[in-house]
Amino acid sequence: MDGRTNLVGRNSVEITELIAPHVDRDFRGRQVAQWIVDRNASSFGVMTNLPLALRRDLDTHFSLEEPEVLQVVESSDGSCKYLLGFSDGVGIESVSMREGAKATFCLSSQAGCAVGCTFCVTGAVGAGRNLRPEEIVGQYRVMLRRLDTEVERVNIVFMGMGEPLLNTGNLGPALTVLSERVSLKRITVSTAGVLPGVRWLAGLEKRPKLAVSLNAPDQERRTKIMPIARRYPLVDLMKALREFPLERGRRITFEYVLIDGFNDAEKDARLTARLIRGIPAKVNVIPLNEDREHFPDLRRPAAAVVDRFAAGLRDAGLTVTVRWSKGEDVAAACGQLRQRQPIR
Ligand code: SAH
Ligand code: SF4
Repeated sequence: MDGRTNLVGRNSVEITELIAPHVDRDFRGRQVAQWIVDRNASSFGVMTNLPLALRRDLDTHFSLEEPEVLQVVESSDGSCKYLLGFSDGVGIESVSMREGAKATFCLSSQAGCAVGCTFCVTGAVGAGRNLRPEEIVGQYRVMLRRLDTEVERVNIVFMGMGEPLLNTGNLGPALTVLSERVSLKRITVSTAGVLPGVRWLAGLEKRPKLAVSLNAPDQERRTKIMPIARRYPLVDLMKALREFPLERGRRITFEYVLIDGFNDAEKDARLTARLIRGIPAKVNVIPLNEDREHFPDLRRPAAAVVDRFAAGLRDAGLTVTVRWSKGEDVAAACGQLRQRQPIR
């Protein structure tokens, strides 16, 4: 931060307005916004269709500040885990995954998480500050630039560090910027069930997709692993989800972290299916990523148990995907990379 106004995290209209006093012609605003938003430019110097004097003037008043890439760890499955640092010394993680011409970016919304789910490394680390729009959009920009070959399509999921719906003040503007490049159909916000946030999302004129971390089929067990369930009980959450406005063809994604002996019984699959019956839904079953240091007693179920659970959901008519965490060989799952690194 050097007194210049950072244009990363601003949408095209804002960019145009901000630079208006500096430009000679009206169309410059659109040009600059195109460079920043559409072409992901990282400096004014590359904006070769602008007069040199204007580029210099812009550089005096504005910056295109992005998070610093502190470390990139590539996993054997092709996913890349980024350790990113901000100017105040705060560090976060973002993940880029590749499947052919499709890339998925997993973004963080906070530098930690106050929700404190017992199976989550980010939760174990505790609260961290909210990320600002430019810090959210910056993650996307940095990872996009590093993709080696062309991708046809980028998906964005807010499944990194933090609870996005506890940071709606920054998430909203960030979504506006991101949606200029990536259709909201391909942006998913994942929540532990923060009801005011779900209502905020429901009230947006245009909204991203919603994913809800269910993780247990009943209030009692959910509260055990997700303290936030006490504040926002499952019945209220399910009611809000039944009322959630869904665009044609859209479904709500339910995430379900499978923990050995806790929520992985066949019966739990049936209970889960019953709970979400009537909601256009798909379920992501995520076998627990173990962490001996933070939750040594929680284990990932055997593969056969995972299969049985998924089959139980499918038998009940649900669409199910089993998500074996990517990047495990580099400790690159959910909040784990930052754990191994001394952050400034
Ligand atoms: N706070 C939001 C988004 C970030 S967490 C939320 O909770 O939805 C993203 C996903 O990672 C959630 O579905 C969460 O249940 C899952 N997750 C957290 N820790 C995990 C672990 N140790 N193993 C597997 N999945 C985990
Ligand atoms: Fe926070 Fe989500 Fe982790 Fe829970 S699972 S502690 S809400 S990041």
